[in-house]
Parts: sequence; C-alpha cells; structure tokens
Amino acid sequence: MSVQSESFRMGSAASVSEDVQSEKLVESAALQSSTVAGRSDDEQQADVSESSEKNTEDIQSLKSHDINSQSKDEDRAATTAAPEVVAEGEEVSLDFESFLHNNGMLYSCFNHNGHRVYVDEWQKLQPFPKEWHSQGRFINTSTEASGQLQIPASSQSAVREDDRTGSLYIPGKGTVMTYMFEERLNICRFWEPQAGVWLLLPLQWEMNIEFIKARIERVMSALPGLVDQKEMTAALRQCNYDPEEVISTYLAMFGEILLQAPLGGDQNYSDLNSFRALLERDLVIADLRDKLQKKHKEVDTLLQRNSYLLGEVSSSTDAIHSLNRHLAELEADHQEAQEKIRSLRASTVPPTKVVPKPALDSSRLRQVSGLIRRLNVSNKQLQSTARHALEDMKKQLEQLKLSVEKSGRVQQEQTAELEELRSLYRKEAVQRKSLYNKLQELQGNIRVFCRCRKSSGSNCVEHSDEQELVVVQKGNRKKFQFDKIYPPNSTQEEVFTGTLPVITSCVDGYNVCILAYGQTGSGKTYTMMGPKDDPGVNIRSIRELLRICAEKETVSYTLKVSMLEIYNETLNDLLTKSPGAPLEIRVQGKSMSVPGLTRVQVQTEADIVGTMETGERNRRTASTKMNIQSSRSHLLVALEVDGVDKVSGLTTRGTLTLCDLAGSERLSRTEAEGQRLVEAAAINKSLTALAQVFAALKCNALHIPYRNSKLTLLLQPCLSGDAKCCVFVNVSPEQKDVMETVSTLQFGSSVRQVSLSRAAQNLQPSTSRSNKASK
Ligand code: ADP
Repeated sequence: MSVQSESFRMGSAASVSEDVQSEKLVESAALQSSTVAGRSDDEQQADVSESSEKNTEDIQSLKSHDINSQSKDEDRAATTAAPEVVAEGEEVSLDFESFLHNNGMLYSCFNHNGHRVYVDEWQKLQPFPKEWHSQGRFINTSTEASGQLQIPASSQSAVREDDRTGSLYIPGKGTVMTYMFEERLNICRFWEPQAGVWLLLPLQWEMNIEFIKARIERVMSALPGLVDQKEMTAALRQCNYDPEEVISTYLAMFGEILLQAPLGGDQNYSDLNSFRALLERDLVIADLRDKLQKKHKEVDTLLQRNSYLLGEVSSSTDAIHSLNRHLAELEADHQEAQEKIRSLRASTVPPTKVVPKPALDSSRLRQVSGLIRRLNVSNKQLQSTARHALEDMKKQLEQLKLSVEKSGRVQQEQTAELEELRSLYRKEAVQRKSLYNKLQELQGNIRVFCRCRKSSGSNCVEHSDEQELVVVQKGNRKKFQFDKIYPPNSTQEEVFTGTLPVITSCVDGYNVCILAYGQTGSGKTYTMMGPKDDPGVNIRSIRELLRICAEKETVSYTLKVSMLEIYNETLNDLLTKSPGAPLEIRVQGKSMSVPGLTRVQVQTEADIVGTMETGERNRRTASTKMNIQSSRSHLLVALEVDGVDKVSGLTTRGTLTLCDLAGSERLSRTEAEGQRLVEAAAINKSLTALAQVFAALKCNALHIPYRNSKLTLLLQPCLSGDAKCCVFVNVSPEQKDVMETVSTLQFGSSVRQVSLSRAAQNLQPSTSRSNKASK
C-alpha cells in the first residue's frame, strides 16, 4: 500500500462543515494507521471507532491550535482550504507522508490542504511541530535517491508498529532503535542517529532484542539440547530468522539428541560437540582419501616415467655399443688403409738392386694419393662424429642417471607420505567409530518398542503419547513406557525407521539383533516378515544394509544370510537343499557357531526376497510334515556382514539377527496334552531363559545364563558386550487378550531397564577380529 499520497472517496452529505471534514480525515487517518500495523479486520474496526472517539477531542483542539500555529504559508493554505465544500461523490485529497526524525523514529503524517498532523506513540493524532522541520526529513522518492540507506516503501509506515521494531541499549551509544528489514534476506540493523544511517548489529547485541529473543526461545523450547544462544542467533541469521527452519536443520544434522535437555552439566552439549567433531572428521577423512588417491596417481606416473627412462637408458647403451663397434670397424679400415698406403709407398721405393727403374705411372699415383686424402678426410670425419656421438651419449647417460636417482628419491618420499596418510586414515576411522559407539552407548544399547495391532472388538489399550500407553484391566489403569510406541495405524516403513540407527551399525562391525515378542496373533510375523507387497523389518533391513554397503566405496562387503527355526529345542536349517539331522550349536569359550548351517550370499533385492521365500517354503513344508504351527517355533534370520577396508586393510564382521519368537501366550486347559504340551514346555523354557538373561543383564550379574536354552545361546553374541538390540513387544488391544497384553508389556518394561555393557568397545584390531570371525 502506498503511503505517499492516496485519495479517499467520501460518501458524505452534499455539504460538510470543516469539523465534519476533519473528523473524517481523522477517521481515514486512524483507519490507515491501524491497517498499516497489520492487524485483523475486527481489531481494525474496533480500533478505528475507539481511536476516532478518542481523537475527536484532540482533533478539535488540534485544529484550532493547528490553524493558529501553522506558518504563514500554511495559514494561507488553511484559510483557503477551510471554506472548501465537498460535494457528494467528490474525492478529498489526503496526503500520507512519513517523517524520519533524527531520534530514529519514523512517524506517519497526514496532510490535507496544508494541515499536517502526525500519529504519536499512543496512536493519537498530534499537530506536526514546526521545529521538527529542522530535526528530520520527510521520506519520499527524491530523498530515497540520495544514496542513504533506503527504507523500503512497504516497511516505512510499519517501522514502529510491528514486531520487527525494537530498541537496544548499546554502551556508549545509549538506546538505539532496531528494525528487521526484509531485503533479499532479513537483516537486523540499528539506527545510528549521528551518522543518520542503519547499521548492521553485531551478533552479541542482536541476541538481546525481542524479535530475536522470541525466536531463540522458540528454538530452545523445541530443542532443549541446544544451549548456546549466540550459536542459535547465528543459525537464525543463516535461516532468514525462520526458527522452524533452524529446528529442522539441527534435527537433520544432530537428530534426536537435541530433543533432550542436558542431564545436568553439559553432557549432551559436549556430546553434540563430539558429533560435530565426528562430522568434521568425516570431512578430514574424505580430504585425506582424495590426497591419498592423488598421491597414488603421482606414484603411478613416476613409475611409468621411471620405466620409460630405463627403456631410454637401455636403448642408449645399445646405441653406444653399436657406435663403438662402428668405430672399431673404422679403425680397422684405417689400419688397413695405412697398410695399403705403406705397401703402395713401398712399391714406389726403387729396388736396392740396380734394377732398371720401371716407368712411373703418374696418373695412377695421383689417383692413389687422391684416394688416400679422401680416406684420411673421411676417417677424421668419422672419428669426430663418433666422438660427438659418444659425448652426447655420456651426457644423456648422466642425465638419465640423475633423473633415475631423483625419481627413486621421490618414490621413497611418496611411499613414506602414503604410509603416513594410511596411518592417519586408520586413526581417523577408529576415532570415528569410537565416537559413534559412544553416542550409541549414551542412547542405550537396548531399545524397546511396542507395536499395537488393530482391534476388531472392545479395546483395552489407550495411547497417551509416543512413549506411553495405558492398559485398562478390571477398572485398573496400568501405564507402560517404551522408547517408542507404534499405534495400530503405524506403517511398516515407520516401524522399520525406528530400527534404522541400530541396523546401520551392523556395517561398522557390531552384532545387532531385533526380536519380536508377544502372544500369537499380536502381529510379530507381520512386523518382522510382513506381507509380500508391504514387507516388514527383515527384508527392509537387509535391503538397507545392501544399499549402505554399495555406497561405501572404500570398503568391500560380503553379505550372507542364514535362516533357522528352533522347534522343541531342535535347530532346523531352513535354507539347506538336503535336510538332514538337526543342527547343533558348538560353543568354544565365548564364541559360538552352528556347523553345517547354510549361508547364502545376497547381492540384490531379488536375492533377499528369493532367499526369504525359500526359507518360508521349507518352514511350511516341515511344519505340515510334523503337524506344527509356525507360531510354536522361533524363527531366526541371521545376516553376516563382512567388510574389508580397501585403504587401511581393516576387516570387520557384523551380524544382524532378526528373530520372530514363538507365541508367548500360556496354554489353555483344553490344549494341555500331547504334542501341544511338549511344545508349550519348550517355548516356556526358551522364553523364560530369555527373560532370565535380560534380568541378569539388568542387575549386572557376573553370570548370565545364556546356556539355559538354544534360543539364548544363539542370541548370546547379540545380547552381550557392545551388541545392540531392538525388542518389539507386539500386543493385541482387544479386551479378551488383556491378560496376555499386560504380561507382554511387563516383559517389555523389564527389558527396557537393561543396558548392555558399556566397557567393551566392539572395535578390535583387524587381526583379532578376523580370527574371531573365522572361528
Ligand atoms: P503373530 O506372528 O504374532 O502370531 P501375525 O503377524 O501372524 O501374528 O498377525 C496375525 C494377523 O494379524 C495376520 O493376518 C496379520 O496380517 C494381521 N496383522 C497383524 N498386525 C497387523 C498390522 N499392524 N496391520 C495389519 N494387519 C496386521
């Protein structure tokens, strides 16, 4: 809305007195000022009537005062304006102006035929003081062009009226006015009265103004883990003062850790710093990796150059040898020529005996001497050519020797640097893993989630919030708390997302396990295996691990899946092509293995689905043969993830065990006989053993009874030391299942109090880990 000069159409009577006209002017002015303040229509209406009532009196006095106190020119204008009669439908010209006072305040003014009034801090109209003409300036397009800081037209009238306005005490300056300008990005400036310009606020000052404080409070209330207000102010600047964007950015970077307030001291804060250090280290590692690759390339080029130079040396040596041979031949020719000359000379010497001198053939002699001369000349030429060639060769050889020595030195340096980079990289990788592990420890190595299936009858479960549910049993309300509660409408994807942090650490060499516990029909199989078109945790987690492994360029991974069923304390391999005798568990010290268990390597999603289907098919066939229901046996899907770091050579082995436990319900009286009784005893034994293991872990017992059942023995690596575990307690919300539901939730609650050992870190030297893995 333009505030410079707007005309309002007044539907007044054919003739209005000056008073009425002024009142309308006040009304229009009040309406204008309240609209500018950006309030709601209702508020504006209320304000307009209130303001106009309040101001009527003021205006009466204002008009008389105004008319008396205006300058002569204005008086003249007022006098000419006073008798003006406004006809119905005629437009009354009402000029809106903004006056910027040297005290930093921006006032809205209204000018009608030379009568100028302004709106004061209490929204009242006041006569415009004459002396103000020398204490400030009216802002219009011409002054804006003067090069000073320009206030956008849209914000001029809003400067002192919306929540973007503030004031701040600055030592040495006193209280200054601040305003949040909406330029390309929001920028907070303060008014510097002496210079008459808006200047940028330093961070330390900025965090003390209301506009910022309110936003800092909003961020702090959403992320109690953040404590540094200065940092938040800087983050707000980066996010255009949008607190929601700051919150989502921090959450994306640091996750749920920020949702908790620091537990006394600055534990979480230092943890956050560790996390930041982790991220920075990631950058350093990436940088080092780049450097390493560059060095590799340089070494390769040097090696190539070296072999090229060696080739040159050998070909030069060959050339020297052939030149030497040539020289020798030439010297032999020379000798021969000398011999010939000598013999020719001898043939020209007169015989000692007085023999009649043969007639000298002078032309033959000339021919011979010419031949000799040519021979001498070519001999000399050859000698000098050979000498030059030899010298050249010698020089080249010297140079070659030097460059071979140099490249050898460079190669040594490169190798040393390479080694240094490798050790630095290893150190960084180990530190990164230890920081991640520390973070996981702080969050607890066992998470317990509760998933409630849909109800088809009366409901006994109430969901109070994301971490608490209430079960109503015989009028009693029992509360249970878990790390997360998944209500009936939760999707398979949401449930899987909860397990992600634990699953991903499997790639870094941790033993990880996910268990589903609950009565038959409560949704364990749905959660773990799930239907074909909407798979559960099993397929999703292996798919995710395949994805993560494919992304890590520096580590090569092998993933192998095995599936086994524990029924009546016997182990059946579900992936074997030739079913035979039940499998046995071999225990050696602290390590455990199942000799003969089939392991299938998986590389694609189709491999995962195919393997799972084979396992399920074999399970169904075996169950039909033996007349058992799948809910009466435990199903264990195990994934071994073996990684070899291509740079450091470190090897890791992590395992992910996914376990769909047998139904935890008690036997009904009608079922308590024959095979059912044996099954029930076996299930009871193994689930009791599981509960005992968790109980022993809970009180840090010296002896943990893993050997009390095959189930706990197989799960031992995932329930000890630095392993990580997710337990799903699946419940049915139906009234008829309330007993089992309470018992399942009690099991979950007791597991939730367990935290696995914090002392043992799972990062071991590559050799010992690979030894352990090979056992
Ligand atoms: P359990 O393995 O505990 O015996 P199931 O997973 O076989 O129980 O679930 C019993 C039935 O309830 C199945 O037909 C399953 O499809 C259905 N079901 C369980 N949980 C859900 C759920 N969250 N959403 C839709 N259907 C479910």
